[in-house]
Amino acid sequence: MEFMFYMPTRLIFGRDCIIKNRELLEKTGKKPLIVTGRKSSSMNGSLDDITRVLGHANIPYSHFDRVESNPSVETVREAAEIFRSEGCDYIIGIGGGSPLDAAKAIAVLASNEIDDNDLFSGKYRNRPAKIIAVPTTSGTGSEATPYSILTYNKIHNKKSIASEQIYPEISFLDPKYTETLPATTTINTAIDALSHSVEGYLSLRATDIISPFALESIEILGGCLHRLSLGESPSRLDRDRLMYASMLAGIVISHTSTTSVHAMGYPLTYHKNIDHGRANGLLLFQYINFLERTHPRVQEIIKKMELEDLSGFENLMNKLLGKKEEITEEEVALYSETAISAKNISNTDPHPDLEQIRNIYRGSLRVV
Ligand code: NAP
Ligand code: ZN
Repeated sequence: MEFMFYMPTRLIFGRDCIIKNRELLEKTGKKPLIVTGRKSSSMNGSLDDITRVLGHANIPYSHFDRVESNPSVETVREAAEIFRSEGCDYIIGIGGGSPLDAAKAIAVLASNEIDDNDLFSGKYRNRPAKIIAVPTTSGTGSEATPYSILTYNKIHNKKSIASEQIYPEISFLDPKYTETLPATTTINTAIDALSHSVEGYLSLRATDIISPFALESIEILGGCLHRLSLGESPSRLDRDRLMYASMLAGIVISHTSTTSVHAMGYPLTYHKNIDHGRANGLLLFQYINFLERTHPRVQEIIKKMELEDLSGFENLMNKLLGKKEEITEEEVALYSETAISAKNISNTDPHPDLEQIRNIYRGSLRVV
């Protein structure tokens, strides 16, 4: 047996966990830059909880509220300027994966004046600013990963930063913030988490210590996704389960990285504006189907999700995703070329060739 396990983030889970652990936040620094999307953090109670604790301790803060979905390099550069000009010394990212990922890249740029190549290098001379993460979606696991995924217009795709220097210092996971999520975002983000655990479990980099995390989250997500597919609104307990399972899935990909599904999903998001979780969901069945004959672990996944067979998986995904987007042969060719050069493709066991990638795209969307 051989493995390495590293999780430097203090993960605090539970309803009202920010208020209950306010002293940890109070001693993090002198002036945070709060990083959010445009609206949701002021509607779901997360921003209020943070500003109440800061106000109580007389800690001043600045607020950057312009993080878009799939944040761009331009946005994080703009926020890093504000961090410096406002004299901030740490960052609190609140929101879905987009603000959390933006917070990580801003933390790097706040203490390093570097070009794009160095930003994506993952190695920084100056220690990035400390990051506190408050997830308000249950999907990306960014609160527990060393990744920041940015829209990089120079390469017409999304690109990841991977660096142990950007793990959050503390993540506060309070499922009550997710109660305002619309049904579609709940589904897409849960599928993203499932994709992380499935990809991690099937990855060449899966280890003995990480596989149980993956299976536990696959089992929980299987149950929640089944109920979501019946049109049920998530119960309070399911909101807890979804946040817990997506955090576990984040720990999984921290160790295994993602694989072909994410590599193939990024061009769908960049070029066709398909939501990140949905893009993975569209591809997931064809990916598992591709591996099924050679990978004994596929059957374990089906069992954990309490599905009869692989077509049960396909039916579940079809119900959750509804009508699929169209794709042309030109798009298939372009996205396949992009995906095959992504570094996470090589974690897939076995590794698909260009024609196999094309076929996964063709089988996953409606070719026109
Ligand atoms: P998101 O882009 O962060 O948010 C999607 C939408 O949901 C936004 O409109 C946001 O509104 C809204 N929203 C967030 N929380 C809400 C809540 N509690 N109630 C109502 N609406 C809410 O979506 P995401 O799927 O969580 O994150 C996707 C990003 O994460 C992608 O860029 C993806 O590449 C990245 N990702 C990162 C990792 C990692 O390890 N770092 C892993 C997987 C994916 P506002 O804009 O108003 O806040
Ligand atoms: Zn993802």
